[in-house]
Amino acid sequence: MSGKYRPETLAVRQAIPRSQYNEHAEALYLTSSFLFTSAAQAAERFSGEDESGNVYSRFTNPTVTSFQERLAALEDGEACIATASGMSAILSLVMSFCSAGDHIVASRGLFGATQQLLGNIMTRFGVKTTFVSQTAIDEWRAAILPETRLFFLETPSNPLTEISDIAALAGIAHAHGISVAVDNCFCTPVLQRPLELGADIVVHSATKFLDGQGRVLGGAIVTTKERVEEVFKFMRSAGPAISPFNAWVLLKGLETLKIRVEAQSANALEVARWLEEHPAVARVYYPGLESHPQYALARRQQKSGGAIVAFEVRGGRADAWRVVDSCQLLSVTGNLGDVKTTLTHPASTTHGRLSAEQRAASGIKEGLLRLSIGLEAVIDIQNDLERGLSLI
Ligand SMILES: *Cc1c(COP(=O)(O)O)cnc(C)c1O
Repeated sequence: MSGKYRPETLAVRQAIPRSQYNEHAEALYLTSSFLFTSAAQAAERFSGEDESGNVYSRFTNPTVTSFQERLAALEDGEACIATASGMSAILSLVMSFCSAGDHIVASRGLFGATQQLLGNIMTRFGVKTTFVSQTAIDEWRAAILPETRLFFLETPSNPLTEISDIAALAGIAHAHGISVAVDNCFCTPVLQRPLELGADIVVHSATKFLDGQGRVLGGAIVTTKERVEEVFKFMRSAGPAISPFNAWVLLKGLETLKIRVEAQSANALEVARWLEEHPAVARVYYPGLESHPQYALARRQQKSGGAIVAFEVRGGRADAWRVVDSCQLLSVTGNLGDVKTTLTHPASTTHGRLSAEQRAASGIKEGLLRLSIGLEAVIDIQNDLERGLSLI
C-alpha cells in the first residue's frame, strides 16, 4: 500500500491480515506454531526455500508482520523487525552489525539502559563505544576510528531534550562508511523521520508512544530489507521475539499515534510556556520553546516539540520532591509516552545509580523534574503541579 497513500491512511489501513472469516479488525494470531499440510511443505518451510508461510512465532507471526509493515510504512522504511522490548531492539541491532574489534560512537545523553549496554556489557564482547556530546558535532568527527561501524543517537535526549543534528551527523558518518542509527522513541514518525534526514536505521521502544497507553513492552528496528534480513538471522537464533499479543496492541496503537502525539505535544507546549513564566521554576527544557538553545534545529528536524518537558524548580531535591509528593492527579512513575501525564525526579530514579559527579556532568540537577504530558486538560495538569510549586 505504501507510496500511494498518506501516513494517516497507512496508520489505519496498512497490512491488515485477513483470515477465512473476513473479519474487519486486525486478527490476533495468538499461536506459537503453524501447521504444515505435508512433510514436504514442512521441509520447505524450515529450509527457508518457501518463505510464504509461517513456521514458529520466534521467526514470524502474521500479527507481528502486520505491525512491522505498518511501522515501516510510517517511518518510510523498506522493512521492519519487531522485538520484545526497546532494549532487545538495540541489543539485536548491535549483535547484528558489530563484531569483536568494532567501535561505536554514541551520544552521552542516551537512555540509561542503552548506556549500560554499550558502555559496559558490549565491551565484554570486544565492542567498544566512545560517548560524545549530544550537540557538538566536532566531537563525533574526532571520535571516529578506522574500526568505527556505527553512530548511535537519540534525539531529543532524555530528560534534557538536547537535539542532535541527524542530517549533519549522517553526512559525517557516511563520508567514513559508517552507519547511523537513531532511537526515535521520543518523537515517533509523527514528528520526526530520521530515514528521510539521512539516517540508515531507526530503533524504537514501542513501549512508549507507539503503545501510548502503558500496556505492553515492545521494540522495533526499521531499515533496509537487506539489514532486516541480517537482524532476522540473529532473532531466529537468539530469540528476542515480540509476543503476538503485544504486537497486536501496538498495531492498534499505531492507528491513533498521530492524533495522540500531536495533541500531547500541543498540551506540552502550553505547560512548558506556563512553567517558563512560573516564579518557582528556574529553567524549562523543551524544544518547542524559543528559549531552547537549539530551537531553530528542532524546528527544522521535528514537526513540533513533542510531549516531554523537563524543568528545574528553584531549590534542590527537597523542593522537587515537594512537587512530586503534592500531586493528586499526575502519575508518579518512570514510564513515558502514555496518554496519562507522568512525572519523574530523574536524580533519584532513572539517574539515581550514577554518582553525584556523573549526574553533574550529565546536567541532571537535584531540582530537575521530567514530565511526559498526556491528554488531560492542560488546566488540570497545571493545577496539580501548582499544588507543589506554590510551596516553593
Ligand atoms: C524506554 C526507552 C528504551 C528502552 O525501551 P524498553 O521498551 O523499555 O526496553 C530505549 N530508548 C529510549 C529513548 C527509551 O525511552
